[in-house]
Amino acid sequence: MRPAPLAIIPAMPELPEVESTRRSFAERIRGARVSAVRLGKPLRWPLGCEPEFLVSQCVGDVVRRGKYLWMALDAGGLLLHLGMSGSLRFSPSLGEPGPHDHFDLVTTHGVLRLTDPRRFGAVVWAQAPDHEPAAKLLAGLGVEPFDDAFDGAHLHAALRGRRVAIKQALLAGDIVVGAGNIYACEALFEAGIDPRTPAGRISRPRCDRLAAAVRRILGEALGLGGTTLRDFRDAHGMAGGFQAHARVYGRAGQPCVVCGTPIRRIVQGQRATCFCPRCQRR
Ligand SMILES: [Zn+2]
Repeated sequence: MRPAPLAIIPAMPELPEVESTRRSFAERIRGARVSAVRLGKPLRWPLGCEPEFLVSQCVGDVVRRGKYLWMALDAGGLLLHLGMSGSLRFSPSLGEPGPHDHFDLVTTHGVLRLTDPRRFGAVVWAQAPDHEPAAKLLAGLGVEPFDDAFDGAHLHAALRGRRVAIKQALLAGDIVVGAGNIYACEALFEAGIDPRTPAGRISRPRCDRLAAAVRRILGEALGLGGTTLRDFRDAHGMAGGFQAHARVYGRAGQPCVVCGTPIRRIVQGQRATCFCPRCQRR
């Protein structure tokens, strides 16, 4: 019997998926001219301009900040977010929008389509990323994990005095962006840190290891196109494969790959945490 499809397990698009999505269309859409905009049902936030305003504008660079994409246009730009269940596809030919397709940017190079069954995603126009409403949405984001500014020293300074568990401090996204649930679990395993450890109690050498682990895990996930937890497919129809490489996440009860101790599953802040009670210390 075939196993149940992984697509039924809900999981949010995380930074690697968003970055993979960006890479899948950023080059191809650059220089295209908007010929039409089609809106479906309301998304999390309103577009913030008349759809006609976007028509005949030229698309510039598409950059990522956290889990947001900013697409520059002649006048301002669009801030895109995939929410809980969104995915973006860009193709020269897409059929008529289906019931879950809520934003089509029809351009001279193809159609960029946001499919989002749960509609927590958004497409918002702003004059610039540092203008409202984009500025408010981008405020409070931590450093990028691949930025030189993110290292053990940064992590150690940012965690100082925090009593919250390290797993939740990573997930909050205000210290470093992108350490979503699966990646936070994997990075803590790699760094040998118990996810329940009070964040402010983690020593500088352990912060060095943790920062390196976050960066390496996200880099690996990016190379694989994200996780297979959800039915994520980028514009090339590629499904990610990080989940198969996870060493603790989703492996509760199975032996630790390092020491053989059964992996434990706990709940922190309503999110599942998996860890090895022997390899990961407070
Ligand atoms: Zn172990």
